[in-house]
Amino acid sequence: RKGNVVITGASSGLGLATAKALGETGKWNVVMACRDFLKAERAAKAAGMSEGSYKIMHLDLASLESVRQFVGNFRLSGMPLDVLVCNAAVYLPTAREPTYTADGFEMSVGINHLGHFLLARELLEDLKASDYPSTRLIIVGSITGNTNTLAGNVPPKANLGDMRGLAAGLNGVKGSTMIDGGEFDGAKAYKDSKVCNMLMMQEFHRRYHEETGITFASLYPGCIATTGLFREHIPLFRLLFPPFQKYITKGFVSEDEAGKRLAQVVSDPSLTKSGVYWSWNKNSASFENQLSEEASDPEKARRVWEISEKLVGLV
Ligand code: NDP
Repeated sequence: RKGNVVITGASSGLGLATAKALGETGKWNVVMACRDFLKAERAAKAAGMSEGSYKIMHLDLASLESVRQFVGNFRLSGMPLDVLVCNAAVYLPTAREPTYTADGFEMSVGINHLGHFLLARELLEDLKASDYPSTRLIIVGSITGNTNTLAGNVPPKANLGDMRGLAAGLNGVKGSTMIDGGEFDGAKAYKDSKVCNMLMMQEFHRRYHEETGITFASLYPGCIATTGLFREHIPLFRLLFPPFQKYITKGFVSEDEAGKRLAQVVSDPSLTKSGVYWSWNKNSASFENQLSEEASDPEKARRVWEISEKLVGLV
């Protein structure tokens, strides 16, 4: 049978390119889990995705209720779940004030990490129940949360500190809107959320890989400087960032190429190793990359897991 893959945030950028790449193989039913149904439908059509290769389902990661509804609707569809890709994200580098999800979490960590955490925890049962030869849970990471890289050392750097802000609910009422308890900074909140994504992947691996056989993986697909992720940035940045990445850092990767990379992590029979953070070299060959000290700290991973399960109402 065909594999069934759910991709969050498949209405643009990397998620859309991955949905397209997988759909084109004829071996996958792609569920595009998106907050804006119409935008997703238009994007799929504009990308030339063939009807029948995809299905759009509503998911707004800025609401835990919506996450639960998505899980319910997906189950009602009767489709088994073989691979889940947590891809959606927001990046709000120019925001002066924090904004909040429906549940009152600072928006970037609320969507990028907490929404995905609940989704992945709920859908773990479905992945376990699948009879597909290789089941996978993939969480898109980023170089920017990794302070062992050049890009990860551009200030403000990711730092979860002692997680006092996260523990207090990230709502700016009882504590700070930042995980480490500091002043709100949109760019840092994004990087912190990506560290949480990478820690979460490893914690899933430690807790569930042996028992379930599910492959848990993360990746940095390269700098896809043209996606909507940078839509909130100042115009000059948006103009100069793609050529800067192309000619100066040479880390630039097209949306198509990045989509092929993520599609590889979804379906390539040789990429079944669990607990791995994949990257690609100049010749586009995948390799297991090293995470920064913070992004691979097992104690931090456990604490993020435990605090997050309280915040999303799992315990
Ligand atoms: P895009 O902005 O193009 O795509 C982000 C997607 O997330 C969009 O489909 C967006 O939906 C969706 N999304 C945002 N908020 C929500 C929400 N509340 N509920 C559901 N979906 C939501 O950015 P990219 O394609 O660049 O980003 C994809 C992933 O790649 C992210 O995880 C990002 O961190 C990662 N990444 C990107 C890099 C880059 O250079 N671009 C580098 C490294 C990692 P909508 O279309 O409705 O806005």
